[in-house]
Amino acid sequence: MSTPSKIPQAIRGTQDIFGAEAEAFAHVVETFERIRKLYRFRRVEMPVFEKTEVFSRSIGETTDVVSKEMYSFEDRGGDSLTLRPEFTAGICRAYLTNGWQQYAPVKLATHGPLFRYERPQKGRYRQFHQLDAEIIGAGEPQADVELLVMADQLLKELGIADGVTLMLNTLGDGASREAWRAALVEYFRAVKGELSEDSQDRLERNPLRILDSKDPRDKAFTEAAPKIDDFLSDEAQDFFAKVTSGLDAAGVAWTRAPALVRGLDYYRHTAFEFVTDRLGAQGTVLGGGRYDGLMESLGGAHTPAVGWAAGVERLAMLVGDAAPEVPEVALVLEHDDYLDFANACLANLRRAGVSADLVASGSPKKRFDKAAKLGAHRIATISQRDGARWVNVRGGNTDDDRTRLIHTLLTL
Ligand code: ATP
Ligand code: MG
Repeated sequence: MSTPSKIPQAIRGTQDIFGAEAEAFAHVVETFERIRKLYRFRRVEMPVFEKTEVFSRSIGETTDVVSKEMYSFEDRGGDSLTLRPEFTAGICRAYLTNGWQQYAPVKLATHGPLFRYERPQKGRYRQFHQLDAEIIGAGEPQADVELLVMADQLLKELGIADGVTLMLNTLGDGASREAWRAALVEYFRAVKGELSEDSQDRLERNPLRILDSKDPRDKAFTEAAPKIDDFLSDEAQDFFAKVTSGLDAAGVAWTRAPALVRGLDYYRHTAFEFVTDRLGAQGTVLGGGRYDGLMESLGGAHTPAVGWAAGVERLAMLVGDAAPEVPEVALVLEHDDYLDFANACLANLRRAGVSADLVASGSPKKRFDKAAKLGAHRIATISQRDGARWVNVRGGNTDDDRTRLIHTLLTL
């Protein structure tokens, strides 16, 4: 006899989501779908992989994502491809290659899996999922406002807005950002030896990233680091003021976070994160900002754009275990001669929008108890009395319209 072969294990950092967690996950995605329609964002479906350069050229070679988190591989044709670590770069590539300029300004939304080679832990996976919303071809602060109000409404409708704070910053325009960058290099150079190894490395190449460091050795110096406000041009200040007044008018609370820079290189002006302390170290649930320089880095014409992405798993963890969906009707077949009739009833119920489960297996005597365990609002039984078919419905109020409808569907 051959020994049974070992069952292959799932890949580290991937998840098989089932039960209450899967319900919470679906609830997050469904809520996003509803809200993106309210805000008139158009759905796009994007490839899961792209040429590696789509990400390396836009996200920035020195970012964590490109330097150490991408799943890149050579395909059989010898091209270097990468499983998408984020949506924005691929959407911009699509905008350029499909001529979506004709629709600009265009509001796009999508969701799906992303891949990053990270150290798996609670709220951090190698395959995770995001909701994503982008406005491309819009340079006005109004676009930033619309996206932030949308994000705020999403969190409110998910019932998780309490304890989640919108941290808002501006990185200024290109010139403001350059001046700030130079000041940061000078400031951190003076204490270089005391910074983490990563930040010593970042110092010349990508000093803004030091502000985003979670290493306590760096945090000791980030507090007193030069602030963007001292370098903002009048235009950049005016832009930020329009964003904040739009948020205030719409009743969206925000907190100024002068050291917030985000982990990707392409941001200009507005940058933001919605953060919570309820998820330990993985406290950022949604992040984004304006990326006016990204299209040019992909070889396109200057195209202002702004967007955000939210982690579905982290949002679902905040939502908590959604109550399991119970059927409106559990239909119990207590007499096997009537299976066809039961199937007719089930079809009637479901076509009329009534959720229903059939219990028709195992010992007929035990089926009612099985059905009771489903927690259905009503239990309908199909049995035999005096040699004739007998349908009975328990639960619900005999006078209400819903109960009458169900009676009708079961006796048609
Ligand atoms: P973090 O600082 O937690 O690494 P990030 O800045 O890398 O986040 P973004 O690239 O801005 O994250 O992605 C947006 C959102 O996607 C995050 O706020 C988070 O909710 C989610 N996210 C990012 N990486 C992961 C991951 N590895 N696992 C689960 N969710 C993730
Ligand atoms: Mg990250």
